Amino acid sequence: MKNIYFIGECMIELRATVPSTLHQSFAGDVYNSAVYLKRCFPQISTSVITALGEDNLSKKMRERFASEQLNTDYVFAHNSKVPGMYYIETDEQGERSFIYWRDDSAAKKVVEFISPGLVKQLSSGDMFFFSGISLAVIEEQARAQFWDIVKQLKAAGVKIVFDPNYRARLWDNVEQTKAQYHSAFSLADITLPGVEDLETLYNVQSVEAVIDYLAPYNINEIIVKNGPDSVITKEANTVQSHSITPVKNVVDTTSAGDAFNGVYLGARLDGRPISEAVKLGAQAAGAVIQQPGAIAPKDVFQQAMAKSGL
Ligand code: ADP
Repeated sequence: MKNIYFIGECMIELRATVPSTLHQSFAGDVYNSAVYLKRCFPQISTSVITALGEDNLSKKMRERFASEQLNTDYVFAHNSKVPGMYYIETDEQGERSFIYWRDDSAAKKVVEFISPGLVKQLSSGDMFFFSGISLAVIEEQARAQFWDIVKQLKAAGVKIVFDPNYRARLWDNVEQTKAQYHSAFSLADITLPGVEDLETLYNVQSVEAVIDYLAPYNINEIIVKNGPDSVITKEANTVQSHSITPVKNVVDTTSAGDAFNGVYLGARLDGRPISEAVKLGAQAAGAVIQQPGAIAPKDVFQQAMAKSGL
C-alpha cells in the first residue's frame, strides 16, 4: 500500500453564519489536502502528523480525522496545549477576513513528538509533505531537528514534497522565511508553488519566472499553480502547460490549492502521469471553490469527481 504523511497544523474553524451564530468545523492546509487525497484515492494510506491537546475539541478533531479515513497514529496529544483556532467572516462584497489564535497552539510542538523510532517508521513511506505554513508553525528552536528528520527521510528514499504557501503574518521577517524556504527547496523532490506565494518573496511575477527561480535547485517535479489561468509543470527538463477550465460561480476559494495538492499527489502515488494528475487536481479544486469553507461536503465532492471516473 502506498503511503503519504502530511505534517502541520489543523485548526478549529469558527465561521460567522447568520448574525450571532457560529458554525464550528476543522481546517488547515495539510489537513485539507489529506482529506481530498483520501476521498479520491482511498487505497492510499494517508496520515496526518500533528499535535493536539487533551481537551474535548482535540478529541473531536481526532474523530474528524478518523471519519475521513485518515491515519491518526501520528496525531499526538500535548498535555498542556490546545489546538489553534481562527474566526472567518465574509462581508457583503464577499471579502473574507480572519482572526487567528494560534501563537501558542499544540501543533507548534509537533517536532518534540518525533522520536528516532518514529523517523524509522516514517522511512518506509512514499511521500512526506510539508508547507510553508507547517514551517512557520514549527518553533524556531525545533527547526534544526525538523530538517534533520527531513534529511533522514530523503536519504531513506521518501519523496519530499513542499508547497511554499506563504503567509507573511506567520513569520518574523522575510529573511527568516527565505532561509527556511531555501532549505525546503534544497531538499524537495516535488514542489507545488503558487505564483502569488513567490511574488512577494522573490519578485517573480509569472509561472515562467517561478520555473527559472527554482532551476538551480535539484527538484525533479515542479508544479506551478496560477489560479484559473493555467498550471505549468516541469519534470526533469520537460515543461508542459496545462489549461484550466475557469469556474463561473466561485463561492469561496479557500483551500483551492490544498485540494489541488492532495488530489495531484494521490494521482501521482497511484501511478498516473503528470497531465492526468493536474487534470484531477484542477477538477477537485474547481469543485471545492463552488462550496463555502475549506472542506466541501463529501457527497457533493464525490459527485463532482465521479465525472472523471474516481
Ligand atoms: P492557492 O489556493 O494556493 O492560492 P490557486 O489560486 O493558484 O492556489 O488555485 C489552485 C488551483 O485551484 C488552480 O491551480 C486551479 O486548478 C484551481 N482554481 C483556482 N481558481 C480557479 C477558478 N476561478 N476556476 C477554476 N479553477 C480554479
